[in-house]
Amino acid sequence: MALPAYECPMVVVGAGPAGLCAALEAAEAGIRALVMDENERGGGQLYKQIHRFFGSRHHGAGKRGFEIAAEMVEGCERAGVEIRLSSAVLGCFPGGELLVDGPEGVYLLRPQATVLATGAAERCFPFAGWTLPGVMGAGAAQTLLNVHGVLPGKRVLMVGAGNVGLIVAYQLLQAGAEVAGVVEAERGSRGYEVHLQRVRREGVPVYFRHRLLAAEGDEGVEAALVESVDEGRVRRFRVDALCLAVGLVPQAELAAMRGCRIAYADELGGFLPWHDREMRTSVPGVYVAGDAAGVEEASVAMDEGRLAAVAAAEDLGALDGARAAAKRKELLARLEGLRGGPTASHIRRARARLNAG
Ligand SMILES: Cc1cc2nc3c(=O)[nH]c(=O)nc-3n(C[C@H](O)[C@H](O)[C@H](O)COP(=O)(O)OP(=O)(O)OC[C@H]3O[C@@H](n4cnc5c(N)ncnc54)[C@H](O)[C@@H]3O)c2cc1C
Repeated sequence: MALPAYECPMVVVGAGPAGLCAALEAAEAGIRALVMDENERGGGQLYKQIHRFFGSRHHGAGKRGFEIAAEMVEGCERAGVEIRLSSAVLGCFPGGELLVDGPEGVYLLRPQATVLATGAAERCFPFAGWTLPGVMGAGAAQTLLNVHGVLPGKRVLMVGAGNVGLIVAYQLLQAGAEVAGVVEAERGSRGYEVHLQRVRREGVPVYFRHRLLAAEGDEGVEAALVESVDEGRVRRFRVDALCLAVGLVPQAELAAMRGCRIAYADELGGFLPWHDREMRTSVPGVYVAGDAAGVEEASVAMDEGRLAAVAAAEDLGALDGARAAAKRKELLARLEGLRGGPTASHIRRARARLNAG
């Protein structure tokens, strides 16, 4: 039996900041984009962020993530953008069709332009005991806490002292869990100092130059073994949950399935769809934005979403070259500003390599 199939000008996969901003920009150019997201709520990562965001005021700095998400969803509603939630895009075929599994059933979409804004997945690594209940990504712990109101454990060890590890460790404390420590293999944190100090002020020890060896337990996590990298001393932490915050990986599967060229940039999370500065992939009519195009921040994701929509609108003939160039100039300047600081030098290097070919 043939599946129902629908033609549409533009489909955006992912209702995070990148996807929602792409849809808003497309609407400004007169294109009705259809946004698909497998979650029950729009906003991507943002709707589970309860801390105040850093960055520029233009990107919602000072507001809490879920407030920024709500504003963007409302903006889309006002602009007449349709967001289909609980709708997973299962496939992106070489001919351009998207296979969707949503509340209406399974169907195909045939868009003229596709923006892939699928975000990133949590990185994991294998260690003894890694399949025990209680071992989870820090993002999963955050979803349990902030979306479902469930404490992932009473006493938790966090592995990874980047922003995600530090923020989630603090949110665990706020929710009433005990955090036995934050373990980090490097000499220092890659996260913001303010997040590190906040966790330390609560009395949580941060162990730099320490690495996780194993999780122990019968039915679930009962302890974690951690080794000092320099001295080889092993310490046992009695915990009932172990959270991994060891990086994010761009979700590039749909792009790969579609036949987009895949590039590698360690600094941006690993394998990602190759794209030019204007967010066009190697396949005409397919664009990428946000963490799916290299893991950075929500503010970057927003402007990349807009850039992708400008390219799509220009290619569809909805924006003339001069207007597209003016919008692009403004967005690229903003992105340059966001990536301008000394802590973003690795991002600038990776982006330069990517753009060179
Ligand atoms: C703990 C934590 C704290 C952070 N704090 C900050 C901060 O202070 N400032 C900041 O700028 N950034 C912060 N970030 C980063 C920021 O959240 C991300 O960079 C940003 O959300 C990326 O946006 P995105 O739209 O690319 O992806 P996401 O927000 O991840 O959205 C992608 C969406 O795509 C959907 N999706 C994926 N695949 C499919 C599919 N096949 N079908 C349908 N839907 C799909 C997902 O369900 C998701 O809703 C933080 C991240 C974390 C984890």
